Amino acid sequence: MTPSVIDELEWRESAACLPHPAVLFFGMDDNESATDRRTREEEAKAICATCVVRADCLEYALDMREPYGIWGGLTELERKARLRGRAS
Ligand code: SF4
Repeated sequence: MTPSVIDELEWRESAACLPHPAVLFFGMDDNESATDRRTREEEAKAICATCVVRADCLEYALDMREPYGIWGGLTELERKARLRGRAS
């Protein structure tokens, strides 16, 4: 295992989302309404706001170009905007 993979595993051990279902962060329901999605994302973001590894999580997601879900308190669209901001 490379050092970067070990580092990734270490921060994930402290993730506030660990006891919560992945569906809260990733949706996984093609029929989810916009209102339900917004509610779900706000709930996930509230968990991220308490997370001690939020910065590591967000950096990982930005580096990996994670295409789905809430990472580091940001949705995929918010991460794309962040990346565009870095590029300019
Ligand atoms: S910032 Fe959010 S998604 Fe990332 S590890 Fe913490 S709780 Fe999980």
